[in-house]
Amino acid sequence: MTDKPADPQAKPRLVPCPHCGGDSLYAPSNPYRPFCSERCKNLDLGAWASENFRVESEAPPDDQPFGDPRQQ
Ligand SMILES: [Zn+2]
Repeated sequence: MTDKPADPQAKPRLVPCPHCGGDSLYAPSNPYRPFCSERCKNLDLGAWASENFRVESEAPPDDQPFGDPRQQ
């Protein structure tokens, strides 16, 4: 009777790609995990970065250490 304990860490798993929802191999052989491909990873990170940039640009300008030089 061969009874090997199942080790989920050692076994590559298929997870849904966060970008396209397709099958993505969650394993060291997939450098883009949890995404399915480089394209999905780049697209998703690009969307995240642009969203983050937009939020950051909405910060009030008077939060900057250098104010109007004419006031000094
Ligand atoms: Zn994908």
